Amino acid sequence: HTKHMGRNGYHFFQPSMNQLAQTQLQLMNDLWQALERKELRLYYQPKFQAPAGPVIGFEALLRWQHPKQGLLMPEIFLPLAEKTGLIVPVGNWVIDEACRQLSEWRVQGNTRWSVAVNLSPLQFEQSALVKTVMQSLARHAVPPEMLILEVTETTAMSNPDESVRILTSLTQLGVKASIDDFGTGYSSLLYLKRLPASELKIDKAFVNELSGEGEDVTIVSAIVALAKTLGLKVVAEGVETEMQQRFLTELGCNTLQGFLLGKPISADAVLAFAEELK
Ligand code: C2E
Ligand code: MG
Ligand code: MG
Ligand code: MG
Repeated sequence: HTKHMGRNGYHFFQPSMNQLAQTQLQLMNDLWQALERKELRLYYQPKFQAPAGPVIGFEALLRWQHPKQGLLMPEIFLPLAEKTGLIVPVGNWVIDEACRQLSEWRVQGNTRWSVAVNLSPLQFEQSALVKTVMQSLARHAVPPEMLILEVTETTAMSNPDESVRILTSLTQLGVKASIDDFGTGYSSLLYLKRLPASELKIDKAFVNELSGEGEDVTIVSAIVALAKTLGLKVVAEGVETEMQQRFLTELGCNTLQGFLLGKPISADAVLAFAEELK
């Protein structure tokens, strides 16, 4: 439509495109430095044994405490980090920091908490991933089974043979694997069966729509039945209402995660939260 706007329109459009590219370039420059300046943070969202506890662990969710723009959510910077490859050093930091936090919590007596870390598609394909995970576990003396690695269904199914191979090497370290955002991708049941995962996370889109009637109950029941058949635990994410909490529990979900039960919070806030639970 810029053509209709004539010369001025064109001139108006062009700089704004440059500006966008410029802003993104700047953001990636900043992200590179953010690592060194220690501006990245992990927030932790509690996962509860259904229906209401105890807390069995946390999902680590990345935040960026940007010096000018405040606390940035992953959707602002992760897609570009994935495109530029910056996700690899960022992701390595996430793995190491999660292990460090796990070990700190263990020293404080919270030895039952697991921590789940999200792996991006690019990170998942890195041949160095297994070594990176192994080194972080060793550096912080964390029992491998307390670390859960989440890959989305879409990532896992994009090259299923490779995924089976990668997840097999990872789980041979003793860590657990979780299939995230389940139900939004296209799973080959044959491969799902071969993936050495220990849990499925039902995508929050299904949880969100759960009203106690109609299709979504059927879908959630089907996912739970499938998971049980494959010997997997089921986590429901995005639980926001008591009704969803009740239905998900009745349908057989093992673990619940969502704003109703606990939002992602800083590690400091986790300790205060843990005191409250006692
Ligand atoms: P995810 O792994 O599916 O994480 C769940 C997202 O749902 C989180 O968003 C969480 O804050 C949000 N959530 C949890 N409970 C509720 C709820 O009750 N209602 C609603 N509306 N949302 C809820 P967040 O923290 O913005 O993260 C978004 C996505 O960014 C994550 O989705 C994950 O794919 C990605 N991500 C986050 N941290 C990392 C990381 O360290 N590495 C990688 N590769 N990806 C990450
Ligand atoms: Mg996740
Ligand atoms: Mg998810
Ligand atoms: Mg998601």
